[in-house]
Amino acid sequence: MPRLSKLDRSVAGKVVHITGAASGMGRATAYLFADEGASVAVTDLNAAGAEAVAEEIRAAGGIAKAWALNVADAEQIIQVTNEIGDEFGGLDILVNNAGIGVSARLDSDKYEARWQLGMDVLITGPQRLVRASLTMLTASEHGRIINIASTEGIGASKGASAYTVAKHGVVGLTKALAVDLGRRGITSNCICPGPINTGLTEAIPDTAKEKFAKRRVALLRYGDPEEVAHATLNFALPASSYMTGIIMPVDGGQMIRNA
Ligand code: NAD
Repeated sequence: MPRLSKLDRSVAGKVVHITGAASGMGRATAYLFADEGASVAVTDLNAAGAEAVAEEIRAAGGIAKAWALNVADAEQIIQVTNEIGDEFGGLDILVNNAGIGVSARLDSDKYEARWQLGMDVLITGPQRLVRASLTMLTASEHGRIINIASTEGIGASKGASAYTVAKHGVVGLTKALAVDLGRRGITSNCICPGPINTGLTEAIPDTAKEKFAKRRVALLRYGDPEEVAHATLNFALPASSYMTGIIMPVDGGQMIRNA
């Protein structure tokens, strides 16, 4: 039957750059976009991990290339972004996913250093990645920015102020980019994952995870990285052309649960 609708729900043939793609949600997102026919630039501080993910995608018949990229390094961002453009002939979708935990008590000697690291990796990195990618995203027919913040970008947990402030910054950056880049047709959206089973949370004992989920999460469990990847894919679709500036929890109902 001929199609009756006009908009496309496929990222096949698009070029996507996913930062922090050697592990967790970044890796799941890289696999998903590759499955959907996108060319995937897999970047990570962990060069061997990024290479392993790209190799797995290629072995499964997908298109991927790995780069070592520390998102706290301004020069590397420009160099790698340009190399991605040269390799794949442009860039359509940027997923700012790389992240670390930067918890420290306010009275800790380590606080200043943790704060600075959090700002460098979690806010300044994404801002620089967007600016380095801007010419290519503007040239794309469907330029998309998806920032991975956290439920810490909406509320706050004890002892996590540097992380909380940085993730609130990601929320602010997302909204500011949506407004500034609307005239270029680029959308900017943000996902706020709740508790997800990834490298970031693997040190938390299973019993503590279960207790937290039963007490705080409507779906009573931690999420899977792929469940977040699908939300990211939705924002990246050509058909998602009128959604911008959205801050979307993917948290199993953590933020709406009162008791
Ligand atoms: P993860 O540790 O499994 O993956 C994070 C990846 O980022 C790793 O491969 C790591 O090497 C990479 N990375 C760290 N610092 C980097 C840097 N400076 N430059 C480039 N890459 C770097 O963790 P994850 O949970 O998949 O984290 C992905 C994103 O999700 C992060 O932004 C994190 O803050 C956010 N997040 C995670 C959770 C959760 O429960 N896991 C919840 C909310 C938000």
